[in-house]
Amino acid sequence: MNLIMFGPPGAGKGTQADLLQKKYGYAKLSTGDMLRAAVAAGTEVGLKAKAVMASGGLVSDDIMIALIRDRIAQPDCRGGFILDGFPRTLTQAEELDNMLAEEEIRLDRVIQLKVDDAKLVERITGRFSCKKCGAGYHDSFKPTRAAGVCDECGAGDFVRREDDKAETVTSRLDAYNRQTAPLLPYYASRGVLVAVDGMAEIDEVTRQIDRVVGEVEKFAKNG
Ligand code: ADP
Ligand code: ADP
Ligand code: ZN
Repeated sequence: MNLIMFGPPGAGKGTQADLLQKKYGYAKLSTGDMLRAAVAAGTEVGLKAKAVMASGGLVSDDIMIALIRDRIAQPDCRGGFILDGFPRTLTQAEELDNMLAEEEIRLDRVIQLKVDDAKLVERITGRFSCKKCGAGYHDSFKPTRAAGVCDECGAGDFVRREDDKAETVTSRLDAYNRQTAPLLPYYASRGVLVAVDGMAEIDEVTRQIDRVVGEVEKFAKNG
C-alpha cells in the first residue's frame, strides 16, 4: 500500500503515519524529519533549509524532489510507503508521479486529514516529542502516560520544534493554503483522494484510515 498523508501543519499526519508504520510495516517518509536531520547534521541541504523552515516557508522543490527520489528508491519502500509532508507543491506532485511511473509503482490513496485552523494552532503549540526515539506527544491531547517519561522508550528528554510557535504557525498555514491545498483537485481528479475527519480523537482517525486501507486491500485481492 502506497499512501500520502495529506493535510495542513498539525493535522495529525505524522501521528497517523507512525501508527500505520507500526501496524503494517510500511516505510514512513517524512520530509520534515529528513530536513530536521539535515539541519542537525549541518549538511549542505540542512544549511539551505534552516532559515526557510524557521520562517515557515517551503524549502525549494529541487531539494525536496532530490530527497524523495533517493529515499523512495530504497528497498524498504517496496513493501509500501507513507509519505508525510510531501508533496507540498504542484511541481512536487508532478515529479512524484513521474518517479512512480518510472518505477511502475502505484499510488493507492491520498488521505486528507481535515482540521479547522483554530484547532491546528492548538495542536501545533502543544506538540512535543521524545528526543531519543522521536515519539510524538501533545500537552493536552496526547500526554505521556507517566509524567516526564516516554511511553515508547522510557527516556526522559523531550524537545519542541523551533517552528512550532504561534508566530510561525500563521506563515505555515498560509503556505499550506496557497501552495499545498491546490493539490487536492489534482488528486481528486485521479480518483485517489479520500477525506477523513481529522478533528476526531486520534484513535477514531486511525479507525477511519484503517477502513480506507482495508477497502483498498480487499479490492486488490478480488482483482
Ligand atoms: P502533522 O504531522 O500533521 O503536523 P502531528 O501528527 O505532529 O501533525 O500532530 C500535531 C499535534 O497534535 C501532536 O502534538 C499530536 O500529538 C496531536 N494530535 C495528532 N492527532 C490528533 C488528534 N486526532 N486529536 C488531538 N490531537 C492530535
Ligand atoms: P508539519 O508536520 O507541521 O506539517 P513538517 O515537519 O512536515 O511540518 O515540515 C516542517 C517544515 O519543513 C515545513 O514548514 C517546510 O519548511 C519544510 N518542508 C517539509 N516538507 C516539505 C516539502 N515537501 N516541501 C517544502 N518544504 C518542506
Ligand atoms: Zn522515546
